[in-house]
Amino acid sequence: MTGRFAPTPSGRMHIGNVYAMLGAWLSARKSGDSIRLRIEDIDEPRVVPGAAETMMRDLEWLGLGWDDEPVFQSSRHALYQEALELLSKLSFDEISDIIGTGSNDSKPCSTTAGNEAATSEATPLIYPCFCSRADIRAASAPQEGDRFTVYPGTCRRLIASEPQRAKQRLANNDRHSMRIATADTTITFHDEVFGTQQYHLAHDIGDIIVRRSDGIYSYQLAVTVDDLDMGITDIVRGRDLLRSNALQIYIRKALI
Ligand code: GLU
Repeated sequence: MTGRFAPTPSGRMHIGNVYAMLGAWLSARKSGDSIRLRIEDIDEPRVVPGAAETMMRDLEWLGLGWDDEPVFQSSRHALYQEALELLSKLSFDEISDIIGTGSNDSKPCSTTAGNEAATSEATPLIYPCFCSRADIRAASAPQEGDRFTVYPGTCRRLIASEPQRAKQRLANNDRHSMRIATADTTITFHDEVFGTQQYHLAHDIGDIIVRRSDGIYSYQLAVTVDDLDMGITDIVRGRDLLRSNALQIYIRKALI
């Protein structure tokens, strides 16, 4: 087993960080397993200079040591780009087969927009989204608890109904993010604290951003790539990320 701490260096550590890290450390060390440190500094506008170093000093002071060199997300852009290119080669049908749903109800329509590797017939897993935050807020139902907003599917429908318009907008260099189309299926996993968890990908999570319109790879993509690449098998973190775990299992399966 290999565990990890994955703090975002957006300020001093708070009690939630320490609690999550203590849990991760105990989970790994109780059976002599290793634990890695990953500094999640991919979202540069949120990063506070010097915060990563302060966190590392605080962790050492608390006696919560880690194995190997720390990994910094800010130095792994090429890896995230490679992962996105790999995902872009997959069609929605292929991932639906892997995940085990035969339903085509909610698949996006054929387009090669932003995805040269897809054939003209294939429906891409990754698609461009031109919506602003205000557009999404206006079209979304409020979500409970963990502030997870389910994308209302506006650009997925645009690509399905007006593929030429979507292509034109890409050709015009219109500002856009990239989203992953979620399959019409339920992901089940076991959590040691909260027990069996079930999330319906399309209804509970929706098509999430994998690369933001400012070019930054999303938390969800970066974390999944890193946990896979670093061989992480034991994840202890805040309960606000329970739902994200279902999505990360989906992206992980697609990457594998
Ligand atoms: N970087 C996230 C945080 O500091 C944790 C991400 C994770 O554990 O997956 O809240």
